[in-house]
Amino acid sequence: MRGLTAIEPGLAETAARIDEMIRPQVAAVEKLQESNLLKVIKSFQACRVGEEHFAPSTGYGYEDAGRDTLEAVYARAFGAQAAVVRPQIVSGTHAISLCLFGIMRPGDELLSATGSVYDTLEEIVGLRGAGKGSLRDFGITYREAPLGTGGFPDPTEVKRALKPKTRVVLIQRSRGYSWRPALRLDRIAELVQCVKEACPGAICVVDNCYGEFVEEREPTEVGADLIAGSLIKNPGGGLATTGGYVAGAEELVALAAERLTAPGIGREVGAWPLDKRAFYQGLFVAPHVVGEALKGAAFTAGLFAEFGFSVSPTWNEPRGDTIEAIRLGSAERLVAFCRGIQKAMPVDAHVAPEPGAMPGYADMVIMAGGVFVQGSSIELSVDGPMREPFVAYLQGGLSREHVRCAALMAAQELGRAGLLPVPAGEAKVF
Ligand SMILES: *Cc1c(COP(=O)(O)O)cnc(C)c1O
Repeated sequence: MRGLTAIEPGLAETAARIDEMIRPQVAAVEKLQESNLLKVIKSFQACRVGEEHFAPSTGYGYEDAGRDTLEAVYARAFGAQAAVVRPQIVSGTHAISLCLFGIMRPGDELLSATGSVYDTLEEIVGLRGAGKGSLRDFGITYREAPLGTGGFPDPTEVKRALKPKTRVVLIQRSRGYSWRPALRLDRIAELVQCVKEACPGAICVVDNCYGEFVEEREPTEVGADLIAGSLIKNPGGGLATTGGYVAGAEELVALAAERLTAPGIGREVGAWPLDKRAFYQGLFVAPHVVGEALKGAAFTAGLFAEFGFSVSPTWNEPRGDTIEAIRLGSAERLVAFCRGIQKAMPVDAHVAPEPGAMPGYADMVIMAGGVFVQGSSIELSVDGPMREPFVAYLQGGLSREHVRCAALMAAQELGRAGLLPVPAGEAKVF
């Protein structure tokens, strides 16, 4: 049967206990939502945002005040000197790619400070695929510092890997498709400081995907030179329909923008043929929406731990991104989990997720999502690479109650197939 079904009484009781258990986490997230909202409102006000900024532009887009103002609002909200925010930045991968190709020159080296790079960056670096057009193809070498204890970056390893030719140090804030924890800002600050001491010329670029508004500050407020991300993740608030951003030091943002358009043109051109209202309003609601996703993730963590699965982070661990990883341990469970989540979707609930190939990813991936914006992962979605140990990565959710409902549908799907290690009703909080 496809679509929502009633929750069995045993499961509903467990859910009510989890609600009680996560009350302190929910209260903390509500404070975070408020402080980030105030920060965003102040940025709008300082940039004197007005109705006139919402209109689309055409052609070259010269002097598009709505576009320039939105970029100024983003820069302020992220504590950065400048930002480039565009619908022409097609994804988070593209935004990160602009930073790397914008800054690095032949003979330079890229150092990943957080172990192996996110799947889609492997082809940018030239680690996978034919390498055509990759950094390697341009004579830019790559090195990575392995993660240390607990899956955190190890400053000693990073210092050891820094070379005079290291031009960019890439720091991935979110966990990506891996079991390592997301980086909290105190760790990012420490890492950036260590890089700057050892190699003052190196530029710290943070892959900020899934990290925006998860804490009260952004990496650019703790010393990072540049951050990049996707508008169909956190900062678009579920309303932005496409796009990406780069924010940070003025001169570095300018270099990324020259790569986006052309040298000499940079940020001065680029029409915004869409109505900009959704992009402004998306940023305005993003602190709230990110908080809803965090509350939903805490519930999911509590629920699946109760059923005997390892989850990361646990319900009461501080979060550095919006992702909840649930280690399901078998392909059968991962598929059932995704099918359960799909049953709670407003869109496409009548389809059953199947593993498939995805551009940019090496393994087969299964996904659940029924979103209003294609591929959006600030809206509730689940991805899981079909490889050991069969981890479901759940992220987003425009409302806490939607994530809660979907997590329950997933647990029920597993339960009905006899795939829960601890049956509903016998589960207890540990
Ligand atoms: C999503 C993500 C990206 C890439 O973003 P796309 O928009 O999917 O291209 C890069 N890094 C991390 C950690 C991500 O989560």
